[in-house]
Amino acid sequence: MITMNNRQTPILVLVVPCYNEEEIIEKTSGVLADKLGRLENDDVISHKSRILFVDDGSRDNTFHILHKLSEQNPIFSVIKLAGNSGHQNAILAGMMTARDTADIVVTIDADLQQDIEALDDFIAKYNEGCEIVYGVRNDRDSDGFMKKLTASMYYKLMRSMGSKVIPNHADYRLISAKALNALSQYSEVNLFLRGLIPTMGFKSDIVYFDVKEREAGSSKYTLKKMLNLAMNGITSFSTTPLHLISGAGIIVVLGGLVMLIITIVDWIYGKNVPGYTTLLTVMLIVGGAILLSLGVIGEYIAKVYMEAKHRPLYIIDSVIWHDID
Ligand code: UDP
Ligand code: MG
Repeated sequence: MITMNNRQTPILVLVVPCYNEEEIIEKTSGVLADKLGRLENDDVISHKSRILFVDDGSRDNTFHILHKLSEQNPIFSVIKLAGNSGHQNAILAGMMTARDTADIVVTIDADLQQDIEALDDFIAKYNEGCEIVYGVRNDRDSDGFMKKLTASMYYKLMRSMGSKVIPNHADYRLISAKALNALSQYSEVNLFLRGLIPTMGFKSDIVYFDVKEREAGSSKYTLKKMLNLAMNGITSFSTTPLHLISGAGIIVVLGGLVMLIITIVDWIYGKNVPGYTTLLTVMLIVGGAILLSLGVIGEYIAKVYMEAKHRPLYIIDSVIWHDID
């Protein structure tokens, strides 16, 4: 089925993942609704546009607040996930729910760090024919030195291994219904949207925006979640680490052969074989390399294992969706 997009005054659904965001969600909903109202009044988007919160199994009052908001204003819809499925899966749940009714979906974090005023540029690019528009942060001033350094190293590493990730683009992006239908055909369990979406093709562009400090609450990305995402980003898109292991293996074996020849030659000339210090060093290096290699291979096997089980990425507990006319 080919879907034609409505380029003029499209129906926009803002997808907002929320995990324990009780401190900020009310403020966020106000800011987002205000922006949507202005865009509707300017006939930039349809009056059927809405804001879809995805409650990612929050353990605080987030869902309660969202429920109340949706009763006050039909523009707010809510999906409640049965448990915490993680940022990527929460976004996917929102996008897949929105794609039947929306012409365009924009995903944005709940903490107002990403400048909502960039929406105008997003939609302008869409009007020009883009199916995907990536939000790219202007600077990383609001991040600490370590996060800045690790982020830039990470993007370099990813790109050097053949992934098409867009540097400094998190998950603030516009995606059209057509592109969403394409995305729904991917069925990978190890979801890394930033790497996956650029591989689809489609006309796309970049919009720059300013990053602000989180207004309330704290980061919901624990170090563990971040490392997982980073690891997933590499192993889901590149088999380069596996090739590196093969390369390293060949070098070590060649080195070993050279050592062997030298030892034999020494032995023929009656020289003493040096003590076991050398032996131990070589053994340790090779042993370590083998363990590391097994670990990397194991990472990929774990991926295959998870993909083979093909478990659903998220479970929807309930949906609150009002008609808007
Ligand atoms: N989030 C989520 N599930 C999680 C972790 C985070 O839905 O398991 C949401 C969170 O509520 C926020 C967005 O993902 O809307 C980004 O998280 P956060 O702002 O904490 O990350 P940071 O900006 O610090 O990288
Ligand atoms: Mg944030």
